[in-house]
Amino acid sequence: MSYTKNDIMDMVREQNVKFIRLQFTDIFGVLKNVAIPVEQLEKALNNELMFDGSSIEGFVRIEESDMYLRPDPNTFAVFPWRPRNGAVARLICDVYNPDGTPFEGDPRYVLKRALAEAKELGYTMYVGPELEFFLFQVDAEGKPTLVTHDNAGYFDLSPVDLGENARRDMVLALEQMGYEVEASHHEVAPGQHEIDFKYSDALDVADKIVTFKVVVRSIAQRHGLHATFMPKPLFGVNGSGMHTNQSLFKDGQNAFYDPNGELQLSETAYYYIGGIMKHIKAITAIANPVVNSYKRLVPGYEAPVYIAWSARNRSPLIRIPAKRGSSTRIELRSPDPSANPYLALAVMLKAGLDGIKNKIKPPAPVNQNLYEMTAEERKALGVDTLPGSLKEAIDCLLEDKVIQEALGKHVFERFVEAKLKEWDEYRVQVHEWEVKKYLTMY
Ligand code: GLN
Ligand code: MG
Ligand code: MG
Ligand code: MG
Repeated sequence: MSYTKNDIMDMVREQNVKFIRLQFTDIFGVLKNVAIPVEQLEKALNNELMFDGSSIEGFVRIEESDMYLRPDPNTFAVFPWRPRNGAVARLICDVYNPDGTPFEGDPRYVLKRALAEAKELGYTMYVGPELEFFLFQVDAEGKPTLVTHDNAGYFDLSPVDLGENARRDMVLALEQMGYEVEASHHEVAPGQHEIDFKYSDALDVADKIVTFKVVVRSIAQRHGLHATFMPKPLFGVNGSGMHTNQSLFKDGQNAFYDPNGELQLSETAYYYIGGIMKHIKAITAIANPVVNSYKRLVPGYEAPVYIAWSARNRSPLIRIPAKRGSSTRIELRSPDPSANPYLALAVMLKAGLDGIKNKIKPPAPVNQNLYEMTAEERKALGVDTLPGSLKEAIDCLLEDKVIQEALGKHVFERFVEAKLKEWDEYRVQVHEWEVKKYLTMY
């Protein structure tokens, strides 16, 4: 799909669009909107639209706050849940400096830069994400509660699954926005769901992930529910992950597939795995970027804890799904949906490319159950552990030059600064658990 300015103007007229939302994300992946009436669209498409970047988290200081938005015509989409007459459409934008250079703090630019590096080596990155989320009831005032809408479990069917109606409407809305939804199902925890859409090139998928969250939240709201992508909203049940299936293509062929290779995987695939495993601790800071992310990465809830890969086991950090040929891919299972998808895909790709460029061999696959081993047994196998907290992950990021380079100086510095602040805010809190445990004991 490749739209010109005129295509957009035509579609806007045909579909009776009255408002356009120009979108971009801050460094935390939070979607920002500048709404313009359709009369301003021409100006926007000529890249003449300015906004004040100083109010955006992780962007710029006041004295250098003028930024330009350059809409990407390929991202044009009409919101299906808004009125048909006087419809609302969106365009995702790149952020530019007044001097016409791309703004280094724009996460979309960070991903584009990594994709350009891959392109130089002849590679295109394809990604298929699996987004999980919870649906909670809202109280009389419309505030979200922690009460789930049902008590159903994995693949359970109606009538227990009350979120099914909401989920069906989400799928319909996504399809109307051009998503090819491949699967949607109830997940293991009560009130937990997953919707998977077809893999596509990395930039398109990152755009789709940010939009996905808006669609899911909006439709949930229409059903009187609150959708959350918080990684671990409830103690004692599974958290929500964003498994990331990824592959590289070269000359139109899947570069991870080799019919004669071990497990029918190419050397490129092995080096890519090697690169991801080498950098996974720093990647974790980006792919699991909130304090709460680390409440998910614990044993017992189908989330990875140990740094290992396997083609047989379903629970390692990196799994190789059975499909081969053009569907050959690796599945990284640590990312969660609180990650900024542009940054997360950029650092994964960069780590994989580092593996390819430096021929980093991955360790042998581990097909035993790591969760049933003692720490000594894991150590004997050379299996390390993912960072246990946001602080630990940030410390690992501070040690990893390759991942820092993927982020670029601006994003790296702003990200670390903001996350250390978040950690400090958290670590001084007195948790309910502590009070229960110690108040009467001491
Ligand atoms: N919810 C699990 C996680 O935290 C994944 C469950 C699954 O899809 N197998 O990653
Ligand atoms: Mg899945
Ligand atoms: Mg799942
Ligand atoms: Mg999966």
